[in-house]
Amino acid sequence: MSLKYCQGSKCHTYHTKDRLKGMKGSKTYQTRRRSDFYYGNGNFCSMNCYNDWFRKFGDQAINHFGRTTEAKHLTEQNAWIKDYDYNWRAEGNERSNYRFVNKITKEQRPLTEEQYDDSNYTLNER
Ligand SMILES: [Zn+2]
Repeated sequence: MSLKYCQGSKCHTYHTKDRLKGMKGSKTYQTRRRSDFYYGNGNFCSMNCYNDWFRKFGDQAINHFGRTTEAKHLTEQNAWIKDYDYNWRAEGNERSNYRFVNKITKEQRPLTEEQYDDSNYTLNER
């Protein structure tokens, strides 16, 4: 299992026991390193570090990937969301638990598990 560093720009400045590392006599507070983190798609050890990063780089990131400059409108054409039943159990037939639901028309269409997991698969017009 490979370890990765928290991407928080100030992670090493927070004084916690687990950040204090090194040889006795020359210990320093260091950026946290783990196999995975819970925040920001697994990139940050805490909400603090996530927010530090966003405060420093958020505007640049938004400008880079495209700032929203006008209201988006939910219409029949872009109202499809993926959904599933938390309590669903297969009962003999091949009915899939996964489906598209149109938030405007309430129409439902079946989905395979692969389509559900594929974040690029959508019925929405782009
Ligand atoms: Zn951190």
